[in-house]
Amino acid sequence: MHKFIERIYLDEEKCVGCNKCISNCQVPGANIAYLVDGNNKIKVNSEKCIHCGKCIKVCDHDARYYKDDTERFFQDLESGKKLSVIAAPSLMVNFNEYKKLLGYLKKIGVNFIYDVSFGADISIWAYIKTMKKDNFNSIIAGPCPSIVNYIEKYQPELIENLAPVQSPAICTAIYMKKYAKISDDIAFLSPCIAKTDEINDENTYGYVKYNVTFKKLSEYLEANHIDISQYEEYNFDDISCNLGFLFSRPGGLKENISVYMKDAWIRQINGTQYSYHYLKEYSENLKNKKEMPLVVDILNCSHGCNFGTGTCNKYTSSTTIDEVDYKLNKLKIVKKADKCGELSHNYFDKNLNIEDFKRLYNKNSIIDDILEPSDKQYDEIFTKMNKRTKESRNINCSACGYGSCKTMAICIFNGLNVFSNCIDYNKKEVINEHSLLESRSEFFTNISHELRTPLNVIYSVLQLENVYKDSLTADDILKYNKILKQNCLRLIRLVNNIIDISRMEAGFFKPLFKVENIVSEVENIALSITTYAENKKMNLIFDTEMEEVYFNCDANLIERIMLNLLSNAVKYGKENGTIRVYIYKPNAHNVTISVKDNGIGIPEEMQKKIFNRFQKVDTSLSRKNEGSGIGLSLVKSLVEIQGGTITCKSKLNEGTEFLVTFPIASEGNKLSLDMEKHMLYEKNSTETVDIEFSDIYW
Ligand code: ADP
Repeated sequence: MHKFIERIYLDEEKCVGCNKCISNCQVPGANIAYLVDGNNKIKVNSEKCIHCGKCIKVCDHDARYYKDDTERFFQDLESGKKLSVIAAPSLMVNFNEYKKLLGYLKKIGVNFIYDVSFGADISIWAYIKTMKKDNFNSIIAGPCPSIVNYIEKYQPELIENLAPVQSPAICTAIYMKKYAKISDDIAFLSPCIAKTDEINDENTYGYVKYNVTFKKLSEYLEANHIDISQYEEYNFDDISCNLGFLFSRPGGLKENISVYMKDAWIRQINGTQYSYHYLKEYSENLKNKKEMPLVVDILNCSHGCNFGTGTCNKYTSSTTIDEVDYKLNKLKIVKKADKCGELSHNYFDKNLNIEDFKRLYNKNSIIDDILEPSDKQYDEIFTKMNKRTKESRNINCSACGYGSCKTMAICIFNGLNVFSNCIDYNKKEVINEHSLLESRSEFFTNISHELRTPLNVIYSVLQLENVYKDSLTADDILKYNKILKQNCLRLIRLVNNIIDISRMEAGFFKPLFKVENIVSEVENIALSITTYAENKKMNLIFDTEMEEVYFNCDANLIERIMLNLLSNAVKYGKENGTIRVYIYKPNAHNVTISVKDNGIGIPEEMQKKIFNRFQKVDTSLSRKNEGSGIGLSLVKSLVEIQGGTITCKSKLNEGTEFLVTFPIASEGNKLSLDMEKHMLYEKNSTETVDIEFSDIYW
C-alpha cells in the first residue's frame, strides 16, 4: 500500500478561490473546494494527489506550497548521523557551481556522493536486458514518480506495462548499498516533489531516506547565508557515467535506448497536459490490440527533470531550455568520445545482478471512490445549482475548474465542491436576489395600500358617525358598524398573515397536530364564506363523495390555508361565476382539496412563481385587485409544514384551480419526520388575532 504522504499544502489566507489549481489538475478529486466565511478555498486531497506540482506552479497567489526533507537532512547531518548523497543529473543545470556545492556537502560531513546519471546507465542496461529477455510488447518507462502515482492510482490496468526496473535514483542507491557496501542512509538531491512518494514506496525498500529538492536546498543555503563559491570543488565518487545524464531532459531515455536499439519505436511524451491524456489513449489501444510503441518515454514535466517541480533557477545561468540543451549536447559529445562509457554495459553484465534492480508496483493503491450520481440525483443536484434546462446543464464554461457542468455535479455529489463555486449558479442567485428586492419594494407599496384603504374607510365612517350622530337611525348604525367590522377584519387578516410569515422565518412555529376529519373541517370553512361569495354574486359549491377522511393536521392552519385560497378565488374570480371546493382521495394514501374558480386565470409563466414571496401576477391586475403577494407563499409553507404539497392549474381568462394534497396518516396517525421536526418550534398563539370564520371579511 502507498503511504499517503501530505506534501502539498494550502495557505488558506492567500487562496482567493480562483479555481486555477482545479483546472490544471489531472485528477478531479485531488482538490477540495470549500467555503470559509462565504469565500471559496481549495485544499489538496493528499490521498488522491499525484504530486505533479502543477497547482503550485500555476497559483498566482502563492497559496500552494510543498515540504520535503531538506531541513531533516541538514539537522541529521549536523547531529552527526552518517549520510551519503546521490544527486540527479539535473543538478548540473540547476547549479552552475555544482561541484562547489558538492564540496560544501563534503565539508559538512557527507560521506559519499554519487551521480544518479550512473544509476541511469544501470537502469538503461536493465531496460535493454529486460526487454530482450522478457519479450515485452510495450513498456512504459518508470523514472517519473508522478506518472507512476497516476498509473497506480487511476489506471492500474497499465501496471503490467510499467517497466519492471528501478528508477535511476534507486538504481544508484542499490549499487551503493549492495555493491559499494555503503551502509549510510542516503539523501537524494532531486528536482522533483513526487520523488518523496518513490523513496517512501515499499517497492523501493527504503534505499533512499531523504528527498532534498533543489528549490528547498537553495532556500536553505540562502536562509543560512551559505556561499557555495567559497568551497572547493568536489567530484562524484562513482565510476563515472555514460549517457545517463541525458535522462534529465525530455526524451533522454529515448536517446539512451536508441544507442542500443537503433530502430526501436520509442514514444516520447511529456507535460501534464499531454502525458495523462496519452495514458488513457494508450490504455484504449492496448485493449483494442493496436500496434504499440516498444517503449514510452513519458514525463510529467514539459521540459523534463531539468525544469522539474522541485527546481529553481537561482544558482544557474542556464535558465532557458535551449541553454540547458546546449550544455547537455556539449557534454554528450565529450561522453561519446569517452571509451569508458561504451564499456559500461559489459562492466554491468559482469558485475551486476539484474534481479537487484528490478522493481514491482502497487496494485492495491487504486482510488476509485468517486460515486456517480443516479439520474434522479443528477437532477436534484442540477436543480439545486439553479440548472433546470438541458442547455443550462451543458454550459461547460470551466469557471469551476472542471471542463463540464456534469463533472461539477459529480464533485458536489461527492462533497468535493460547493454550489457557490459555480458561476452560473451565482449569476442566477444574483438575478433571484434582484427580483426578490424588486418584489419586496413592490410589496411595501402594496402593503401600505392594503393597510391604508381599510384604515381610510374606518376613519371616514367614524367621521360620518361623528358629524351625523344626532340624525343616525338604528339601521344606519348597524350598516356603519358592519363596514367598520369588515374593514377591521380585513386588517386583522393581513396582519395575521404577516405575523405568520415572520414567525415562520424566525422558526417560532409549532403546529398543534390533532387527528381531524378534514372533510368536515373544509366544509365548515367553505360554508362560512358562502354569504360573502353570494354578496359578490358568486356561487360557492362544496362537493365531495366522502363523509370523513382523518388526517393529522392543525385545524387552525387548514383554516388559514382555505381562507387564503378562497379569498383569492373571490378576489380573482368572475362576477356571477362559480367557486367549487372539492375534496377527494386521488389514491389510497392521499387526500386532495381543490379550490377552483372560473375567473381571470394566471399566465403560464407566472404559475410557478406565484408561490414566491411578494409575487403578484401583473401590476395592472394586482393593483385593480389589491393584494400583498404574501398569501400564497404563506399557504405553501403552511401546507408543507403539515407534510403536504400545493400545485396550481390555470388558464388565462378561463380560471384557476389550486390543489392541496396531504398524505393520510396511517398506523396510528404517526407524524412524518418533517412534521415532528417542525413540532419542535414553540407556538405563541397570543401573537395573532383569532377571528371567527363567520367574521372574515374578503
Ligand atoms: P395577493 O395578496 O396579492 O392575493 P397571493 O400570494 O395570495 O397574494 O397571490 C399572489 C398572486 O397570485 C396574486 O397577486 C394574483 O395575481 C395571483 N392569484 C392568486 N390566486 C389567484 C386566482 N385564484 N386567480 C387568479 N390569480 C390568482
